[in-house]
Amino acid sequence: MSDLSLWPIFRRPSPARTAVSDEVAAALLATLFTRTASLVLSGAAGLVVSIAVFARTGSPWAVAWSVADVIVLAGRLILIRSFQREGETGIRKDDRLWARAYMIGGIISSTMLGVGCFFCLLLQDQTISLLSLTVVTGTAGGLSSRNAALPRFATLQIILMLLPVAAGAALGGDRWYLFLTAEIFFYIWALASIVDRNHRHLEGLMLAERANAALAARFDAALTNMPLGLCMFDADGRLAVVNGRVAGLCNVAPEAVRLGLTAREFAREVLPDATHEALLTCRDVGTGEMALADGRTLQMSHHPMDDGGSIAIIEDVSERRRAEARVLYMARHDPLTGLSNRSRLMSGLVASLAALPDRPAGAGVTVLYLDLDGFKTVNDSLGHAAGDALLKLMADRLTEAAGEGDIVARLGGDEFAVVQPGGTLEAAVDLAQRLVMSLGGPQDLGLEREVRSGVSIGIARAPDHGMDADALLARADMALYAAKAAGKGRYRLFEPEMDIQAIARRALEQDLRDALLADGAGLLLHYQPIVDLATGRVVAREALIRWDHPLLGLLPPVRFIPLAEDTGLIVPLGQWVVEQACRDAARWTDRVSVAVNISPAQLGVDRDLPQIVAAALAASGLPVARFEIEITESALLRDDPRTLSQLHLLATAGVAVALDDFGTGFSSLVHLRAFPFDKIKIDGSFVRDATERADCAAIVRALADLGTRLAVATVAEGIETEAQLALVRREGCRLGQGWLFGRPEPASAIL
Ligand code: C2E
Ligand code: MG
Ligand code: MG
Repeated sequence: MSDLSLWPIFRRPSPARTAVSDEVAAALLATLFTRTASLVLSGAAGLVVSIAVFARTGSPWAVAWSVADVIVLAGRLILIRSFQREGETGIRKDDRLWARAYMIGGIISSTMLGVGCFFCLLLQDQTISLLSLTVVTGTAGGLSSRNAALPRFATLQIILMLLPVAAGAALGGDRWYLFLTAEIFFYIWALASIVDRNHRHLEGLMLAERANAALAARFDAALTNMPLGLCMFDADGRLAVVNGRVAGLCNVAPEAVRLGLTAREFAREVLPDATHEALLTCRDVGTGEMALADGRTLQMSHHPMDDGGSIAIIEDVSERRRAEARVLYMARHDPLTGLSNRSRLMSGLVASLAALPDRPAGAGVTVLYLDLDGFKTVNDSLGHAAGDALLKLMADRLTEAAGEGDIVARLGGDEFAVVQPGGTLEAAVDLAQRLVMSLGGPQDLGLEREVRSGVSIGIARAPDHGMDADALLARADMALYAAKAAGKGRYRLFEPEMDIQAIARRALEQDLRDALLADGAGLLLHYQPIVDLATGRVVAREALIRWDHPLLGLLPPVRFIPLAEDTGLIVPLGQWVVEQACRDAARWTDRVSVAVNISPAQLGVDRDLPQIVAAALAASGLPVARFEIEITESALLRDDPRTLSQLHLLATAGVAVALDDFGTGFSSLVHLRAFPFDKIKIDGSFVRDATERADCAAIVRALADLGTRLAVATVAEGIETEAQLALVRREGCRLGQGWLFGRPEPASAIL
């Protein structure tokens, strides 16, 4: 706007004006260079006056005026053309220079016209006076609009034109012409205010135009850059607005998306699915999806507008659909193996059972319930990665073996199930046999050594074993339990008696719970002596639990310890044993130690064991030096730091820890290193066979030797005969336990 302030003629520019941006100033300037016709007309009018003067007076000055008029007009036209040319190149150097050049031309031509008219009035020729007055007032009036872009300049031009005319009127006519002079002053004043108003209008218009253009540019940018495809159809159903995303989304050339297309043409030529024409032409809000050949999914939503037109928005929903499919997949599949999960298996089973009445007579739905044998050992000893690899391998084998239409699922942990809808019992048995064969034995998991595994399978079948999905699965589970109880690595078909066994197991669990709630009523501890083989003296007694069941009589530990371990009852049961053993031993007059068996399940779970032992010792008054615990190797297999920290806490408190049943299971030397055991108990099975089998004798010798070297006492378990005693003595065992020295007997039998 600086070019406007170059000419501070009447008043200083208002703050509003100076605030106008350079862009608006440039646009205002451009208005001066657009209308050449008005310029030519005003030039021609001046020429007419000069020619008329020449015709009336023959004055050579009139000729000079004409020539000057033509030259100035030509110069100004050339200037305008040059400005336009430079505009076409897109680079305009300096707006000030252009403004200045235009103003110089304007000032010259205004002055020429004003001065020319002044002389015309002095001629006192009525025709010339009238003509010159008409031309000069008309031209001044035209200027007020034409040059309103530069208001002070336009006002200056008006003054330059009209002031000489006013002077001419004052000097050249009679006194009545003075009215004309006065009127010309009014005219100047009026034109100045018109210029100002015109300028304001022009400026307002420019600002509004620019604001509109900015808005349009923003709208255009938003349309182009939005991730959605947008189409607007007018009231005639023709494409009126469309953004560039539509072509990309629909995989068509941009030229195919032409404005003016009807909804039908748009559906056929642009959309991947022409049937969506119906959606575009209906007068309701609606959405539809279209699948593209490249796997993408587009969603189109259609919104009618009040003016009869409509908007269609096209969106790529492929990622959303994929995520939904993933969520659905995850909700119905096991993440590790990719097999169906329990919920999918159950819905499949329910559907198969519902369809069963429509199938031919004799058809059935079979459920195979599988459990991997030895999985826990693999997981505990080789780590979870190996366990996972084994589960995946099993899942693959199951999928391979299962028939088409069978549902294979992982129910959790190492439990799997197969549902065979509509197959025969023979087919189910055949599958079970194949699975037992293929899943049993060594498996290659890509580890250094092969892993031994096996599978036990329970089979239940509808309609024979029930038509309810949950009951059928539970019965297959009972059959599985029976298969495991029968020695694992086999399948069993559900039999009605198994229901009874399961009920009996549940009843036994409830009875044990009740017994524990009643302070261990019915539970008994028997004690078996452990003797020093050199002297024959009893050095300790092992506490061995029995349960005097009200209906079943005296039950050995094998009948209820596994049940207690499975159900978690081992924790209160173990506590009862510790407390009872302490109370009993505190009364023994020979003051020997008591050894208590601690289950691996109890050691991992019961974090308070050291406190329980301490409390039991304190309550009974038994010195800690007379208290020992026995754990089996499997307690260490989990590699759980909590187990070791509990053992260390107990050892620090002065409790002796013996490794029970060594020689069975893993018999890993790693475990002997993991914890400084006070005793190693050699399993009774070796001792029993050692007198007949050289290999068993060698094992006893090796273990006794190991104990001597590690300075750990070895206890030979299960000594029944003198021969066995002689052997274990000879092989170097320090302590012994077995029927030869005494059977487990009630506490009351010990003095
Ligand atoms: P264990 O700790 O190895 O106990 C030795 C088992 O061998 C006892 O069986 C004992 O009666 C038996 N035995 C001892 N000498 C001879 C012998 O000369 N010949 C034969 N054939 N057997 C002999 P029991 O009492 O049936 O206990 C079996 C297992 O039950 C125990 O093996 C122990 O692991 C577990 N157990 C017993 N009481 C408890 C307890 O209070 N808590 C826990 N967690 N487990 C217990
Ligand atoms: Mg024991
Ligand atoms: Mg033992």
